[in-house]
Amino acid sequence: MSADTILVNARVHTLAPEHPHCDTIAIGGGRILDIGDTGLLAAHRDGSTEIVDLGGATVTPGLVDGHMHPIQGAETTMGIDFGGITDFATFTERLRAEAECLGPGEWVRGWNLDYALFAGRRISADSIEDAVHGLPCFLLFFDGHTALASHAALRLAGIHGGREFTDSSEIVLDSIGHPTGELREHTAYALVADTAPALSAKRLRKRVREILYRIAGTGLTGATVMNGDPATFDLLDELEHSGSGLPVRLMCGLGHQPGSDADTVRANIAARDRHGERWRGGLIKLFLDGVIDTGTAWLYEPDTQGMGGSSFWPDPGRYAETVRTYAEAGFQVATHAIGDRAIGAAIDAYLGAGVRAASGAPHRIEHLECLAEHDLHRLAAAGITASMQPLHMQWRAPDGSDSWTSRLDPRRAALAWRTGDVLRSGAPLALGSDWPVAQYDARIGLAWARLRREPGHPDAHVFEPAQRLSAYEALCGFTTGATRAQGDTDLGSIRPGNRADLTVWAQDPLAVSADELVHLPIHSTWIGGTRIYRAEN
Ligand SMILES: [Zn+2]
Repeated sequence: MSADTILVNARVHTLAPEHPHCDTIAIGGGRILDIGDTGLLAAHRDGSTEIVDLGGATVTPGLVDGHMHPIQGAETTMGIDFGGITDFATFTERLRAEAECLGPGEWVRGWNLDYALFAGRRISADSIEDAVHGLPCFLLFFDGHTALASHAALRLAGIHGGREFTDSSEIVLDSIGHPTGELREHTAYALVADTAPALSAKRLRKRVREILYRIAGTGLTGATVMNGDPATFDLLDELEHSGSGLPVRLMCGLGHQPGSDADTVRANIAARDRHGERWRGGLIKLFLDGVIDTGTAWLYEPDTQGMGGSSFWPDPGRYAETVRTYAEAGFQVATHAIGDRAIGAAIDAYLGAGVRAASGAPHRIEHLECLAEHDLHRLAAAGITASMQPLHMQWRAPDGSDSWTSRLDPRRAALAWRTGDVLRSGAPLALGSDWPVAQYDARIGLAWARLRREPGHPDAHVFEPAQRLSAYEALCGFTTGATRAQGDTDLGSIRPGNRADLTVWAQDPLAVSADELVHLPIHSTWIGGTRIYRAEN
């Protein structure tokens, strides 16, 4: 059969054990026709075949981020990016500079706040009131689990005291019952976020498209999107049918909260099979706990401040029922479970509902930041996917003074991001970024998975060295691991019949050091045999 495109003069890591290397790839009808050497030219070339000389560049299966929020991120990354700022004076200076540019009634927005900013100080509206000049202000912490609102923002949102939520969300109050400005978990902070002016549909579309193109430019060809609703699917449809389509393949989850009603279930089930050319649904995303940093992760034993005893669901039994409802309706289920007890409860629920979705893919657990030994073995025995983000260790301090480590005793902190143990146990592993929580650039994610320390700083502290992954294992986490987690059997490796999603690197990502990898140029990305991104020059 004649090829549409033949890539020649490449160093190819197929990640297919039966044929691990080749130098030529023939592509036709969006799929890989054949792999081998230049002999393929004689077999598959005709007058219309495009021959692309890659000049010795390295080809791997397309990188896929196993967990990110590119669409929600278009909204939550509005305003000042506080990434890397841990000094309170610099933080308030930035706020002041922003507030001075705004008129009355305009909102100060910011994201990517580090908990370290508030070490030894309360997360409070009072602490920013002077800097924001009394303007409404909404700031989101890097993990998307905590927000800080100014007094004016609280007033505009009608928040004057506490409130009961259908999940573990909380309006934090001071000793006399006034809101401090700290809002824990989405249902609480959405009250303020939804009061702030929203992007118009047109601007949202534009921002999402820009973000997806930036993502493609870092070598990604796909991602699992961990939140959405049927309106998100409408947006993806619009993006796909305008301009040049989606620059990354997306599997997009639908959300269900503890307070969601039967209408949500009906709407989600009705949207289950919606898809476009490069996106599809079929996934439900649930939360079973929050984050360790604020005491909202669900732990077998309380954290060092006596917290961690409750799940995101007031009745965890309802979570298990919800898993069953969606599994029976044909969905794959992904559950956010960070604390050891949340992970154990997610495994229980999956075992109860049947660990495989109708698609054949196992259900999946997201994050697994503190994984108990007995649950590691249960995870592996059941074949449940562990979807992890080792680059989230960038917020840990070597001396254990950070909010994550200090909330756990040393015994449990040693069970952090057990990527090496997960692989050794035989459980499937997918890697990702959770952007906008951390950088979407998979080269950074790969480097953290390999190094477990800050890339580019060889002297930096290495967290749990035994959990480091080899270059090959890390690459598998962002390719075969992430695509299998989605239930895709024809992606993630370069073999005849598979869809031709490829990442082309200036040099071999398996041969360069992890410190160099973060600067390794991406030559091009390809989806279904179409070149999506190409580096200039
Ligand atoms: Zn996430």
